[in-house]
Amino acid sequence: MRNILLAEPDYRSKFPPLGLMRLSTYHKSEGDNVTFVRGRNPDLRSVNWHRIYISSLYTWELPRTLKTIKYYGTAVNNPKDIIVGGTAVTLLPQYIRSKTNVTVIEGLLDRPNMLGIGSKAIAKLIPDYSIIEAVPDYEYFPADAYFTKITKGCIRSCKFCAVPILERKFGFLKDLRRQIEDVNERHGEKQNLVVMDNNILGIDRIQSIFDDIAKVGFAAGAMKNGKKRSVDFNQGLDARLINKDPSLAEGLASICTSPVRLAFDFVGMERPYRRAIKILRQNGFNEFTNYMLFNFKDAPEDLYRRIWINAELNSELGIRITGFPMRFIPMDDIKRNHIAKKWKWRYLRGIQCVLLATRGLISPNREFTRAAFGSSFNEFLEILSMPDRYIIYREDYRNNGADQWRRLFRRLRPHKREEFLNLLEELNKSYRDRKKRIAKFNGLFGKLLEHYYPNGETPQRKPKQDSHFQV
Ligand code: SF4
Repeated sequence: MRNILLAEPDYRSKFPPLGLMRLSTYHKSEGDNVTFVRGRNPDLRSVNWHRIYISSLYTWELPRTLKTIKYYGTAVNNPKDIIVGGTAVTLLPQYIRSKTNVTVIEGLLDRPNMLGIGSKAIAKLIPDYSIIEAVPDYEYFPADAYFTKITKGCIRSCKFCAVPILERKFGFLKDLRRQIEDVNERHGEKQNLVVMDNNILGIDRIQSIFDDIAKVGFAAGAMKNGKKRSVDFNQGLDARLINKDPSLAEGLASICTSPVRLAFDFVGMERPYRRAIKILRQNGFNEFTNYMLFNFKDAPEDLYRRIWINAELNSELGIRITGFPMRFIPMDDIKRNHIAKKWKWRYLRGIQCVLLATRGLISPNREFTRAAFGSSFNEFLEILSMPDRYIIYREDYRNNGADQWRRLFRRLRPHKREEFLNLLEELNKSYRDRKKRIAKFNGLFGKLLEHYYPNGETPQRKPKQDSHFQV
């Protein structure tokens, strides 16, 4: 019997660490003692472990992952007994390899013998749900759900996406009915179903997968314990495939799909996107939460246009599309500071501030969209250019600073505006001598800078009353 520690670094993670949960199933089936922990725990560090597995998720969280690896370094006899895997190390294995001597596993553990002779194909095992129940102080979402993966890979190879690198071949992974039966047997029935596939609609046998989902208890209108059940395809559904084959929308309507999540990643896909929404609407879907990538090859106009396409569809079809903007971060960017060619730092920062006030989502309410993002593209850029607190606490500053700022900002000619936005980026990069550098500016730039850095200082963000922007 071996002592196994499974550690998830303490980054924010919405979904449970399925890789570690599968490793738990494997080691328990081998008769080992398994302990799960989030982050660094001094009691567990003082134990001598036969093996420690550490997961990784986002590349920009690799420094935190490294910190976790180093923290537990003294808790094994040999650094090779620390095994690090997951998305981030698969994308940037050198980051950990160049700084440690631990074992780095790239890609899925989807074949036997990958963890030594006789080891099973871990990716095909049922996750051990009991380990996350052992950390009651951290809540994964949704709490009472089956987490499943039926296919792997994707039929497309979008340049901004990690899936083509992480899971090269598209295909069937594991029968859903078996997955559900196994979970029921070991961990009991769950309320909802989360399908974590990258692009499930691309698989030939999709209609039989819909049938399976219905058969395991998730047909349209299904209830459990008096509550509606739901099927969440949480990685998003491919609008272009629904546009090509409307029977996919019928399939989605035959089960309790909720919410519908589509990807609207660039404005060039407007036509198939609009049509897919209409087809889904005809099949009874009214609620959508749609991903919108930005800061890749797009320009601010592109995002602004997509925001308003959603607003138009909402009023035209009487539906509710909530936008979920996702800022592109290149796979090798561990600092999260990438600025795409057509974007400016201040605009990205502005989007972040608007989303802070809207909890990351763009409301389907047209008036709200207008208040948050402006009713013209120029107004959109102006909003994004404002100092952070003027954006976040719009009502508090409307006649108390933002009005003066606007009058000054509008006096900048286009090339001066460009110069000013570049200056803001420069000032943001370095704290050193910032005050002195700001003091050198007088005239229009000097007056405007006073709104971003009163007396040369970074202002407190929290005002007395946080009324945000209401409509
Ligand atoms: S369709 Fe989605 S999952 Fe597939 S490569 Fe493109 S972004 Fe990634």
